[in-house]
Amino acid sequence: MSVPTIKDNLEAVRASLEKAAERAGRKASEVSLMAVSKTKPLELVREAYDAGQRLFGENRVAEAVEKFSLLPGDAEVHLIGHLQKNKIKTAVPVFHCIESLDSIELARKLAAACEKQERMVEVLLQLKTADEGGKTGFAAEEEILEAAGWVREQKFLRIRGLMTIAPFTSDESAVRGAFARCKTLQEKLMSLYRDVDFSTLSMGMSSDYEWAVQEGSTLIRVGTAIFGGRF
Ligand SMILES: *Cc1c(COP(=O)(O)O)cnc(C)c1O
Repeated sequence: MSVPTIKDNLEAVRASLEKAAERAGRKASEVSLMAVSKTKPLELVREAYDAGQRLFGENRVAEAVEKFSLLPGDAEVHLIGHLQKNKIKTAVPVFHCIESLDSIELARKLAAACEKQERMVEVLLQLKTADEGGKTGFAAEEEILEAAGWVREQKFLRIRGLMTIAPFTSDESAVRGAFARCKTLQEKLMSLYRDVDFSTLSMGMSSDYEWAVQEGSTLIRVGTAIFGGRF
């Protein structure tokens, strides 16, 4: 048997996304598929692009600039890792969306950089639903409500919804519980700020996207199942 290509992997992920959506009584078209290309060389990203993939995720600013400046303009890249303050200026022109907005302080600096460059950036507020070290995000619900209230006033930032990373465990109820918390918070934000678009729920990775779809995800971030393992 030959090794599956990236095109094969994309097709397999799309097929299982279809099935997961069907089981959840949802349409697969409600869920966007992001190909997480962090650590992967440009050739592989291009292979995914040539297979029709347009939405990508990266967790390092410099790496994203390097790769995505060489891809056609309709390839959209989102930042899914913590944004360091000294990288904000460079991040603004390359990312369509910062999914990992995790503090008001970062939101303020990002808004200032966007205004200076006169460039609109979409953001997701990252909710911390796992206690594991290194996972960033707003831990307290009040903080995220406050951040949403502030961000919605900003001319160059546009809120699109929430992002979360579930705990690294195969315990279905723990993982689904984390996704459900994010969904509940989305509903709360929607009823509090009726003028803001909170429709995006970025939840689910290679190991847990089927559960995320069950819990209402509208954007799954899949790396390993498309590009293979990272070493
Ligand atoms: C790396 C990463 C992913 C993709 O993880 P896989 O397990 O390879 O699918 C998704 N989301 C975030 C935030 C990541 O850092």
